[in-house]
Amino acid sequence: MRTQLTPDTLSGQQLLLAPEVTLLPDGPASGYAVLITDGVFTEVGPAAELTRRHSRLAVRHLDGQLLMPGFVDAHHHLTQSFGKALAFGEPSEIFRRVWVPLESRLDEESAYLAAKLSALESLRGGFTTVADAGTRAGIDLGAVADATTEAGLRCVLAQVGNDLDPDPRAAAAEAEAHLAHWSGHRLVHASLAVSIPEAASDAVLRRLSALSAEAGAVFQVHVNEHLAAVERSLVACGRRPLEQLHHAGALGPQLLAAHATLLTPRELHLLAETGAAVSYNPVASAWKGNAVAPATAMAAAGIRFGLGTDGTRGDAFRLMDAAEFAQRLAYGLASGDSSCGAGWTWLEHATAGSADAVGLGQVTGRIAAGLAADYLLVDLTVPELRPSHDLTWELVRLANRDQITAVVVEGKLRLWRGWPTEWDGPALVSQAAKAAEKVLAEAEVHRVHPTAAEHRRNGAR
Ligand SMILES: [Zn+2]
Repeated sequence: MRTQLTPDTLSGQQLLLAPEVTLLPDGPASGYAVLITDGVFTEVGPAAELTRRHSRLAVRHLDGQLLMPGFVDAHHHLTQSFGKALAFGEPSEIFRRVWVPLESRLDEESAYLAAKLSALESLRGGFTTVADAGTRAGIDLGAVADATTEAGLRCVLAQVGNDLDPDPRAAAAEAEAHLAHWSGHRLVHASLAVSIPEAASDAVLRRLSALSAEAGAVFQVHVNEHLAAVERSLVACGRRPLEQLHHAGALGPQLLAAHATLLTPRELHLLAETGAAVSYNPVASAWKGNAVAPATAMAAAGIRFGLGTDGTRGDAFRLMDAAEFAQRLAYGLASGDSSCGAGWTWLEHATAGSADAVGLGQVTGRIAAGLAADYLLVDLTVPELRPSHDLTWELVRLANRDQITAVVVEGKLRLWRGWPTEWDGPALVSQAAKAAEKVLAEAEVHRVHPTAAEHRRNGAR
């Protein structure tokens, strides 16, 4: 029986869904069904078998729809959304000129609005989980957690523990309290962070990393982001950022190293040997870096990695496309590697690989029994995807967020055709825009690059 697809199709305490295609961990499959009970995938298997076993349940056929895992953004800064459009054309190290002045002006209310605006953008872009690397705003992190939870986004929420900053942040005791506070929360997963290795003492790096490992949490650090960062570290402590983490005894599977674009052969070896994970952020590399993480080589070496936006734009399909494209331009063209990850590498690392990198490999990122029902329905009946010959590649190169019919997190419908069903999305957008104007009027942001229009005028003179 054909099901008329409406938001109600996806509601109920127990659901038997039979999409046209299901994206399983080893690739797309037709003729499959999923059983969702209380927000968890309880069974995934051939539709005929599941239908027979659960004959009392009405099967909801999702013709023309792909059911796939929600994407996981492995590196984000949720409270930077008010300034995301100030970074274009800027040279690296914009944290000094844009993020520090902006985030230091946020109070709990404006931080909440900034984070909720980010969360809505992420959900619209197909992300069901984001890893926040820690805010510079001096606020209670409850404001960020409220924003993501109310929007319905799963969040890995870091507390920053820099102890060598001019403005030292939480000490180890506070880190322990943070980990304990969020333990058992359904949508918030605590994490610890230092912004860059030289912002913390060796002892704190080692301690926060160990505490993360004990708690099953991730320890987030910006590592080897660009030449400016590598040289800053060499001047400060005589070691490159990743070497410094190694020196401090902070490397391990709990480490989530953001960027890792400039890696020596020894550093690649250190990542592989210690099981540390990387967030490969291709859009951030293009917009404000000077190198692209060697992700194809990392995949070949078994280095764990996910894909991250770094707050550039919350669009998972464009991120995946950028991940492939950047590898191709930076490495594939030079070596004649026309496959360059064979499509599946980027889809897998945007979903299961990212979930693993942010410490949630047993929670989300795959359509598999026992995992949270964090999924997307994607419309396959658009001209861009017909005829279809290799859906995996097509998702990487041709799919678009306007095809996302539904975004579901923990079995609950969060967005329907791009907008929340249970709260007023457009009202939030307009409220956040007003708050951003006020914050930016007060923040001493220093932009080096003029706006596009000013740049054009200057050039024409
Ligand atoms: Zn970052």
